Amino acid sequence: MSVFHRLIGQEKVVALLKQSSLNKRSGVESGHAWLFTGPPGSGRTIAARAFAASLVCTGEEPGCGTCTECQQVMNETHADVEYVRTDGVSIAIEDVRDVVSRAYIRPSSAQYRIIIIEDADRMPERTTNVLLKAIEEPPQSTIWILCTPSTEDVLPTIYSRCRHVQLGVPSTEDVSRHLIDSFQIDADHAHVVARVSNNHIGRARGLAGDKFAWDYRQKILRASFAVHNICDAVFMSSFIMNSLKDAENADRMNSLGAEKNEGSDEEKLIDFKRSLGIGEGERVPAVLRKQVKDFEEELKRKATRRIRDALERIMLDMIALYRDVIFVHMSLGDGLINVDFDEDIHRISTFIPADEALRRIDIIFDARERLARNCAPQLVMEAMWAQLCV
Ligand SMILES: [Zn+2]
Repeated sequence: MSVFHRLIGQEKVVALLKQSSLNKRSGVESGHAWLFTGPPGSGRTIAARAFAASLVCTGEEPGCGTCTECQQVMNETHADVEYVRTDGVSIAIEDVRDVVSRAYIRPSSAQYRIIIIEDADRMPERTTNVLLKAIEEPPQSTIWILCTPSTEDVLPTIYSRCRHVQLGVPSTEDVSRHLIDSFQIDADHAHVVARVSNNHIGRARGLAGDKFAWDYRQKILRASFAVHNICDAVFMSSFIMNSLKDAENADRMNSLGAEKNEGSDEEKLIDFKRSLGIGEGERVPAVLRKQVKDFEEELKRKATRRIRDALERIMLDMIALYRDVIFVHMSLGDGLINVDFDEDIHRISTFIPADEALRRIDIIFDARERLARNCAPQLVMEAMWAQLCV
């Protein structure tokens, strides 16, 4: 099966990427720096990986999916295709420096060395500048692929040096069909999941494939119709914060699935110490203290990002809810995102007019901004829910 089969509803992009790979094969220059943009869930990273596979593919048709190269890229084990990604809030400057220095090394087996920067929007300006020169005057055999939600997320100096590929939002029908094929769920449920995910493929896959994620979303939305006073607001935020303390819950909320998590942070720390020869409960020798401290900090950073992403997920669901209220007022009832809460949305629309729904969306945006500014999540949640009483 072609490496492009996981790109749902992006026929034009697939055609362009296949053609570019063919051009490269026949020596036609088709760009050494690419910028893949598209809203969350449109499949930016999947597209970048598939394109990388088709560039190094040795099969008859680029991106055949069956040759060793294609398979290695798709399993992320190909030596000449590397990723810059972060579990933290932003991409570290050292990581970009490292990858820039490797960009000047010739590929080991393929014709190209391909570097994919996922979430390039998480690169602070100073970090981006490190990258600029490598993109401006790239070594012949290196190809950069940057992924961001939109072109505004990278500096104009980067944008102007990249070939731009814009991914669109796949249709509900495309997403439903994909869910039915992948999870063998019935057509009605697949349609509901596609709608409530707002056609976000990753979110849809998470909700269709993991009952916890589905139940948790329902729990949050159901509870949000029952927050009547400050007491309820405090209870609600405590419930959310407590449930996200569990790393597995937070990962599943982020649609990463439980399998991505390899145990609690305490267990990871014990494993790490063991790998350094330090038994459980033993004192850390002075010479290893820095390594252990760095590892602990890394775990803390990941936990912060995990919780922040999960809260972001909840807030996006809340925004969709009030967007639906506005839709009801505009008599566009059949365009609801949260089709499974149709009745509740119509009920609260009787006492939440459109301008009030809009004000509530602003409140949620404010909360997102405060989280991005590193305010304490529990307090941000409490303040937000207190203003969203119904
Ligand atoms: Zn291949």
